[in-house]
Amino acid sequence: MSAEKIIEEKKQGQALITEPINGNGKKLFIESYGCQMNLNDSEIVASILTNEGFNTTQILEEADLVLVNTCSIREKAEQTIRKRLQKYNAVKKDSNKKMKIGVLGCMAERLKTKFLEEEKMVDLVVGPDAYRDLPNLIEEIEAGRNAVNVLLSKEETYADVSPVRLNSNGVSAFVSITRGCDNMCTFCVVPFTRGRERSRDPQSVLKEIRGLFDQNFKEVTLLGQNVDSYLWYGGGLKKDFVRASEIAKATAVDFAQLLDMCATEFPKTRFRFATSNPQDMSLDVIHTMAKHKNICKYIHLPVQSGSTKILQGMNRQHTREEYLELVDNIFKIIPDCALSQDIITGFCGETEEDHQETLSLMEHVKYDFGFMFAYSERPGTLASKKMEDDIPLATKKRRLTEIIALQQEHSHYRTKQHVGKVEEVLIEGTSKKSDVHWKGRNTQNTVVVFPKENYGIGDFVNVKIEDCTSATLLGKAVGYSENNWH
Ligand code: SAM
Repeated sequence: MSAEKIIEEKKQGQALITEPINGNGKKLFIESYGCQMNLNDSEIVASILTNEGFNTTQILEEADLVLVNTCSIREKAEQTIRKRLQKYNAVKKDSNKKMKIGVLGCMAERLKTKFLEEEKMVDLVVGPDAYRDLPNLIEEIEAGRNAVNVLLSKEETYADVSPVRLNSNGVSAFVSITRGCDNMCTFCVVPFTRGRERSRDPQSVLKEIRGLFDQNFKEVTLLGQNVDSYLWYGGGLKKDFVRASEIAKATAVDFAQLLDMCATEFPKTRFRFATSNPQDMSLDVIHTMAKHKNICKYIHLPVQSGSTKILQGMNRQHTREEYLELVDNIFKIIPDCALSQDIITGFCGETEEDHQETLSLMEHVKYDFGFMFAYSERPGTLASKKMEDDIPLATKKRRLTEIIALQQEHSHYRTKQHVGKVEEVLIEGTSKKSDVHWKGRNTQNTVVVFPKENYGIGDFVNVKIEDCTSATLLGKAVGYSENNWH
C-alpha cells in the first residue's frame, strides 16, 4: 500500500497536496516542461518520492530537492530549461545553500553525464526509465556525491505506481498506456531519449482509472507517443511481439480493444487519447470511438508535412494520399470529429512546392487546432547525421507564419460551426479572463466559456453556443447534461 495520504482541499479545483504518512520533513519542488507525458512522469516521480517521505511544495525557495523534468524536442525547449537551472542556482546561492538540484527526462537522457560537466549546478541526472532508482540516487547526493542513472529499459511502464496528481483541477487526469517510440522519424529525438516502445498491462490501466473515478475525476486522457500502436501481449518490447508465443499473440490486446474496455467499464468517464500516428490508426479505433458516447470526438493526428517527398525524408510511414484517405474515413464514420495537427515547416530539402502542398492539405482537412513548428535540427537524429538543414531561418519563419495564419482561419471556420448548437461541456475551472465565467471543453476539445450561475467544477452542463472567436466558444448553460454525476 502506498504510504501517502492525499489531502483534498474542500474547495474544488485546487491542487491536491500530498502529505506522506511517514514524512521525512523534506520538501520536493518539481517542475515539468514539454509534452503531457512529461507531466504524467512528474506525477509518477512525486508518487515515488512521497513514499520516501517527501512533501511536495510549490514554493521554490523552501525546497530541499528541486527536480526539473525536461524536454529535448527542439533546441528552444532546452534553452528554456537551462535558464530555469540558472534561476534554481541563484535561489540556492542566495537563500538555500543545502538545496539539491536534479534533471529528469529527455534532456537528462540526451546529455547524460555531460550535464554534470557542463552544468556544474546539477547534483542529479535521471533518465525517463530510472525513476524507481531515485531513492538510492538521492542517498548518494545526500552523501555529497553526484548521481546519474540514464539506463533505458525494455520493461519499465511504472504500471504499479499510482501517480500523485500535481496541480490538478480534480476533473481531468492523464494515464500513460505506452512508453518509448519505435518510429524513428528522422527529425525526432524521442526514440533516443525515451527508448523502445512498450505497452502497459490493461488491468493496471483500468485499476488506475478506477482510482481516479473513486476520487471523482470525470475525464481521463490515455497517453503515449503513439497510442494507436498500443499492444499488450504479456509485457516486453513491441518489436519483440513477432517472437511471442502463439497464446500470447492470440490473447494480445490492441488499442481499439483497450479503448473499448475503458469506455465500457467506466461509462460515466469521458475518455480522450493522444498522440495518434496516422500509420497506426486503425478503422477499429475510429469505429470504437463512434460506438461509445463517452469517447471524445477529437483526434490529434500529426501530419508533419503535406508533401509525400518530405514525409519520406522524415521516414513517416504514410503518404499524403494515405493520410487524406484516413481523414476521409474519420469524417465518414464520425462526421463531427475534430482534428488537430502537428506540422514541421522547413525540414531538409523542403521546396516552395512542398510548402504549398502542406497548405493545400490543410485546406482539405480544415483542422480545428494545430501545433506548428519550424524544423530544429537535433543532435543524434538521423536527419542531423544524413541530411543538410538547408532551409534559411527567414524562409522557415515565413512559411511558419503562413501556416499559422491559415490554421487560424480554419480554427475560426470550425468554431463558427458550433454556434447555435447545444453542446455538453465538462467544467474545468474559472475562465482566465473573467471570474464570473466557467471554462470547460466540449467533446471536440474546444474551450467553451459561459456564466457560472450555480454550476460547479466537474459538472457536465449543456451549453447553448452563442458566439465564438477562433479559439473559444461563448455561450450560456441551459441545464445539467444527462451524464452529470457526483
Ligand atoms: N509522437 C508524435 C508523432 O510522432 O506524431 C509526436 C511527438 S513530438 C513529442 C511532438 C511534435 O514535435 C511532433 O509531432 C513534431 O511536429 C514536433 N517535432 C519533433 N521533432 C522536431 C524537430 N526536430 N523540430 C521541430 N519540431 C519537431
